[in-house]
Amino acid sequence: MKIAILGGGESGTGAALLAKHLGHEVFLSDGGVLKENYKAELLDKGIPNEEGKHTWTSIFEADEIIKSPGIPDDLPPLLDFRRQGKQVISEIEFAGRHTSATIIGITGSNGKTTTTRLTYHLLKTAGINAAIGGNVGLSFARNIIENKYDYYVLELSSFQLDGIVAFRPHIAILLNITPDHLDRYEYKMENYVRSKFRIAMNQQAEDLLITNADDKEIQNYLKSNQLALQMIEVPTHFNSTKKLVVAGSEFDMTSCRLKGPHNFFNTCCAIHAAKAVGVSDEAIQEGLNTFVNDPHRLEFVAEINDVEYINDSKATNVDSVFYALQAMEKPVVWIAGGTDKGNDYSPIEDLVQQKVKALICLGVDNSKLLGVFSPILKNIEEARSAKEAVERASIYAESGDVVLLSPACASFDLFKNYMDRGDQFKAAVQSMVNGK
Ligand code: ADP
Repeated sequence: MKIAILGGGESGTGAALLAKHLGHEVFLSDGGVLKENYKAELLDKGIPNEEGKHTWTSIFEADEIIKSPGIPDDLPPLLDFRRQGKQVISEIEFAGRHTSATIIGITGSNGKTTTTRLTYHLLKTAGINAAIGGNVGLSFARNIIENKYDYYVLELSSFQLDGIVAFRPHIAILLNITPDHLDRYEYKMENYVRSKFRIAMNQQAEDLLITNADDKEIQNYLKSNQLALQMIEVPTHFNSTKKLVVAGSEFDMTSCRLKGPHNFFNTCCAIHAAKAVGVSDEAIQEGLNTFVNDPHRLEFVAEINDVEYINDSKATNVDSVFYALQAMEKPVVWIAGGTDKGNDYSPIEDLVQQKVKALICLGVDNSKLLGVFSPILKNIEEARSAKEAVERASIYAESGDVVLLSPACASFDLFKNYMDRGDQFKAAVQSMVNGK
């Protein structure tokens, strides 16, 4: 077969390598700049490619196009290609055809990465031969080349799901659906909801869908669409912050790093998936005790003089700060600010009043934060570097408090990106640990 691949990031390159491995004739085209490491791999395997343009005449010679998630579905040449009766698919669809392993697919508007990593960790802790892929780590297609795993745990975006035809996860997790990426869905929420539910469209009677019992969009969809599969609906409210009861088993959460109701919900979904593939309660408990999430997401940094320091630099919008504050059980010295994206702080005003004792505004222009929170908070001041913010915060923080970096804003005014901001925060905390 002749296969054209559009986009040469991790998923496109992974698809190209798998297609070549399977003996197809492959051509990869990237409208932007190919990363050096991907270019080298393509060269090594003798895969023809181009960058900075799409030569449609060459692409149209293909029998099938594998399109990267970032490229919109409705590009006119893609519509023409389809009109010729040929398919445009995602890398997930392509890779899924070439494995008989058990697939756990995870999607949702929020919490995908956390739930994917935790599910994978629970399986690994139980000694299961599993790989993680999709939007985290290596692409699914690249993993399939060696095809040596029994289980794949995949983070799936709606764009990847838009390009599936027969892809069938044995276990699907659909976490939640809130408005996102609507520009790719004709600004219609129902299109986005339908896209998310594609994760279950090929599931059969013996397959399992784990989803959200309290999500309005999900529940509305389920009312009007009959799904012939096994379903577990997970509630999002919890009575305890210390333990979780899932399908009759009780788990101690005191040693687990994941905090807050949103993370408890993610954890319940991951536990249901682990139980469904036969992981024992003992292994699940051990996995919960040892799980470390990706950095910059409510990441514990250090405890100094009985004050906890937490890095949540990934929280670049108000919604994420809502979840972060909700997860805090101690009085908070809050570090926030950066490039404002038209934030409306009203959803968190009550939480700030209840939990925050001081706010350090870390941005070039802090006028909006100062304007909204000065009437609410007695202690509020500005800082121009992560180091200064940590120093100021440590003055307000008393024994039993927490210093939380959860900015609600982008980072580009003072930092390269949210990772740089989080790293500088951690370095500033570490230098206090070292007494510098
Ligand atoms: P994603 O991969 O979907 O972006 P992450 O696991 O990286 O999700 O979490 C990103 C942010 O989403 C977190 O900082 C938190 O604010 C929020 N979040 C995580 N889980 C949930 C959830 N179940 N419901 C709502 N928000 C969540």
